[in-house]
Order: sequence, then C-alpha cells, then structure tokens
Amino acid sequence: VARVVVAGAGMAGVQTAICLRDQGFPGEIILLGAEPHQPYDRPPLSKAVLLGAADGSAFEVDFAGLRVDLRLGSRAEALRPAEREVITSDGPLPYDRLVIATGAEPVTLPGSAGLPGVHLLRTLDDANALRPVLAARHEVVVVGAGWIGAEFATAARESGCPVTVVEAADHPLAGVLPPEIAEPMRGWYEAAGARLLTGTAVAAVEPGSVVLSDGTRLTAGAVVVGIGAHPATGWLAGSGIALDEHHAVRADDRLRTSLPGIYAVGDCASFPSARYGERLLIHHWDNAVQGPRVAAANLLGGDEVYDPVPYFWSEQFGRFVQYAGHHTAADRMVLRGEPGGPAWSVCWLRDGALAALLAVGRPRDLAQGRKLIERGALLDETAVRDAAVPLKNA
Ligand code: FAD
Repeated sequence: VARVVVAGAGMAGVQTAICLRDQGFPGEIILLGAEPHQPYDRPPLSKAVLLGAADGSAFEVDFAGLRVDLRLGSRAEALRPAEREVITSDGPLPYDRLVIATGAEPVTLPGSAGLPGVHLLRTLDDANALRPVLAARHEVVVVGAGWIGAEFATAARESGCPVTVVEAADHPLAGVLPPEIAEPMRGWYEAAGARLLTGTAVAAVEPGSVVLSDGTRLTAGAVVVGIGAHPATGWLAGSGIALDEHHAVRADDRLRTSLPGIYAVGDCASFPSARYGERLLIHHWDNAVQGPRVAAANLLGGDEVYDPVPYFWSEQFGRFVQYAGHHTAADRMVLRGEPGGPAWSVCWLRDGALAALLAVGRPRDLAQGRKLIERGALLDETAVRDAAVPLKNA
C-alpha cells in the first residue's frame, strides 16, 4: 500500500491517520477536511467553546511531524471505485486504500435552513456564530430536547438567556430513554430556569418568532435547531458503495465497506455488533476514537473485529450523564436510586447479564458497569437495586 486517502478530518479521520503511523505504515497519508479550520474536537463546542471559556478545541496533533498531508478546505465530492479515485473539490485524487470518515450532518428544520437567526450546532463556525447570541443574552428557542438541545440550553441559561425548549415528543431524550427515566429530567430544565414545552411541534419559523402547531407564537432572538444528525454520505451517491437504511456506510465487523480497499469509521458508518445482535450506528465521540485503531490495523493486513461496548457522556444542567452499552425496549430495566434525585443509575439486563447502564452523577457505577458489560457478567437484580452496594457479578 503506497497511499491511503482519509476523507474527513474530524476525530475519526484524524485518529485514523495517527493509528496508521502508530502501527508502522510508512506510506503516504492524505487527510481531506472540508472545513477550513485546523481539525478540532466537537464535544467542547456545546460546552467550553460556546461559553467562551475556550477559544477553540483544535487537536494537538503535529500533522507535519507525522507526515500527514492535511488538505483543509478540500471536500470529497464523489467516489470512482473502478478508477480508485476520489473526486475532490481540488480535482481527482487516486488512492490505494480509502478510509471514509466524513461524520454526520445536522438535520435541518424544514423551511428554516438559511433563515437569519436560525442556528445549528455541529461545527466550530456554528459555535462561533452562537457565542454573540449568548453574550447578548438573546431570548432563544431551542428546537429539540435531545443531547445537543439540553447542552445548548444549559450554556444559554448559564449565560443568562431566557430559554424555551420545544420538543415534539412527550418527554426529553425521547429517542433514547423511556418516560420513567426521562420524565423526571423535566425538573432539570425547570431548576435551570428553562421552559420546556413537550408534545409540541414547530409549525413555522418566522423572523423573530417561532410558531407552534397549536398556534402559540414564541418570541425568538435566535432559534437553535437540535433535532438529530444523519451520516454525511451524500458524496458517495452513484459509487455503488452499500449504505444502510439510515444512509450510513454499511461496514462489516472489520470496518470494511462493500467495496475493496475501502474502510469506514465514526459517525458516518454502521457496523454489525455480535455483542448486541444488531447493526449499530453510533454518533458518539468514543466510537470515533476506538474504531480507527481497528480500521487501520485491518487496512494494514490485520484481522480485527470491532465490537465495542459503546460509551458516551453528556454534561447538562450541572449533571454528568454517562451511558455505556446498548439497550432496547425489550431489556429489563432496573433502577438504582431514584430518577429525580441528585445521583442515580439505571441498568438494563438481558437474560440476566448487564447490557447497558445510564449513570447520572455516579461515575463509579459507570466504570464498574462498563467492565461488567464487557465481560457479559450476570447480575443479581436485588443487589443492583441497592445503590449502596457496588455493581458486581452475581
Ligand atoms: P465528525 O466530527 O462529523 O467529522 C467529520 C469531518 O469530516 C468534519 O470535519 C467534516 O467537515 C468533514 N467532512 C464531511 N464531509 C466531507 C467531505 N465530503 N469531504 C471532506 N471532509 C468532509 N459525543 C459524546 O460522546 N459526548 C459529548 O459530550 C458530545 N458532545 C457533542 C457536542 C456537539 C456540539 C457535537 C456536534 C457532537 C458531540 N458529540 C459528543 C458527538 C461527537 O462529537 C461525534 O460523535 C464525533 O465528532 C464523530 O467524529 P467523526 O470524525 O466521525 O465525525
């Protein structure tokens, strides 16, 4: 292999380049980044960067020292697998191996994209555009009570902005958590002084206001849309590469795509998990850090399976929320402490084994739980319920 092209210079793309060098690849590495900025980390964008506590979150990576040819402002626009070429905004680029790491793009609210005062929160440019909104304490309407909406609302309240969060579902984090757990989170918004309206859809965004489906008109100095993200794979159209039903690159358990010599990592790719018996599409930081090591090893001739225990965290309303594993509605939910209290966890058991765990202000539960999930350990339900007893094997 003489040349590896990595499309996308976010966490997954940058980690791929680093791992290739760590694992001894001597050849050429070309890292394409559509954005003009030095590659940066995204989680701080809804936290320190937004609050102005940090100016940026650029990775401390010496690309020149690693002999990585970093091409900023260069976008992959098409893939021609027969020619082994990526068509970029700077022209055709041949590759021997290609790693697809183009991440995800936020879902926009129909009819609102590009309207003045309507913001997304995915990129450094987005965060920079929102800083003056917070500094001026504008009245903000947040659309979506998911992870991004909650973190943005947290920062906006800390900055003293009046905040209304509009959520179409009946409770926050409806896509990921059942009402028993998520309903008490309503109190987090209240305590922070943010108004949360659930079961309400946005009908229209107009200059200076948001109109809800019941006719209510909310004043909005700014609107922040946080209604999810989808894989940034539009550029692969017509290439013949297999995508899944979410338009993620359909990787196999070794992070190989359906086309020879092409791998996929991070937010843009799904992979089959034997651990969970289903295909996973993970939009969290840890997956963008872990996947690239396996993809790089396999690209260099290895044979490693990628089947992680997924992990992520969120910082919202003064709480540290962590989740490890993966659960479905069919798994048995066991509470460990009282949701609504300051610190509690929830375990999901599948056939008696720990499948997933959510910890709010209980990092030790998370650390112990993560190891138990990895081992497929069986847990005693009564012991799990006792928050004073450390999580351990039955
Ligand atoms: P991305 O970070 O999306 O990077 C992909 C890169 O590819 C981008 O820089 C993009 O510009 C570039 N690109 C796209 N298309 C092309 C193209 N055609 N050609 C060239 N380049 C292209 N996760 C957590 O676990 N905890 C958190 O607290 C957390 N907070 C977050 C806060 C925010 C505001 C956001 C947006 C995300 C957060 N995440 C968090 C999720 C985490 O940041 C992502 O999972 C992670 O960034 C995924 O990395 P990635 O490299 O796969 O994709």
